[in-house]
Amino acid sequence: MKYRPRRRVTPLLLVALLFTVAGPSAAGPYREYDIKFTGEAPPPLGASPGDAELINSIAWLMNNKLDLPFPAVTKAYVYVNEATLMDGLVTLGGEKSDEAWDRWRNASGVSTRNGVFLRGDHMAWMHLQGRAGLLAHELAHISQRELGEGGKRRPAVWILEGHADWVKFQVRDLLGYRPYAESRQNVARAVVGASTPIKLFPDLQTLSGTAGWTDWTRKAGAITTYCQAFLAVDWLIERYGSAKLIEFMGRFALESVPGENWLTAYPIPYRQFSEEFRARLEDLGRAIPPAAGGNLAASQPSCD
Ligand SMILES: [Zn+2]
Repeated sequence: MKYRPRRRVTPLLLVALLFTVAGPSAAGPYREYDIKFTGEAPPPLGASPGDAELINSIAWLMNNKLDLPFPAVTKAYVYVNEATLMDGLVTLGGEKSDEAWDRWRNASGVSTRNGVFLRGDHMAWMHLQGRAGLLAHELAHISQRELGEGGKRRPAVWILEGHADWVKFQVRDLLGYRPYAESRQNVARAVVGASTPIKLFPDLQTLSGTAGWTDWTRKAGAITTYCQAFLAVDWLIERYGSAKLIEFMGRFALESVPGENWLTAYPIPYRQFSEEFRARLEDLGRAIPPAAGGNLAASQPSCD
């Protein structure tokens, strides 16, 4: 999932969107896409690609360049507003109705076992990089599910969300929108400029379950959770490679005891990695000048 700050949609924009969706080719308050992964490389995207074109290009890149697997059939649904998305998550997404509103009402996108569910009204006011990032992040969750298909447990939330943002920044690089190193630098600056001092960030263990993750995102903002998780996964991949992380997530499809998948995949104990990452995170404040952090704090940094 990806939280977005709420923003008013201008009536004009909403009217335009409703008109598009209610056109003769649409069957209801959403558009449905069958995502294509195979075949030749899709043609280069123009300056303003449509949703279908963008989704297919991103899925192809993830599958062919990042070696991420997908189910044979993957669908994306784009809804006109909050109410229709909540309804769609229950009727098509397989979510429970009493949970959908509480968990997903602020989300721009949600991945369930039945596909990617998106807020068309949010996407309409996003710039192209934002739309591409949202699609890549949610498609990464689809691939993570496919990797662990059949298993009873899932990797820690910080690994899943950090990896989804890692994919997001890789895809933006592959599409020529923004170099990966620049995205990583932006995240590091956001962390240093956060209103919550790094010393008070939750540790990775706290961010391993859904409750801790959601709680910290709501009370201290996405920088303490999403930004931190991305930096942790970026470092994990820098040290051991992305194929290793794919292998690790794939191990969850097999029966195993808690902690065993990490130990089998990585030569460093989980606790040691967490501690070394924490030290590195706290060093960021020293690596990036405080003045830069202060300025960024004033302009509300984001890890997007
Ligand atoms: Zn997510």
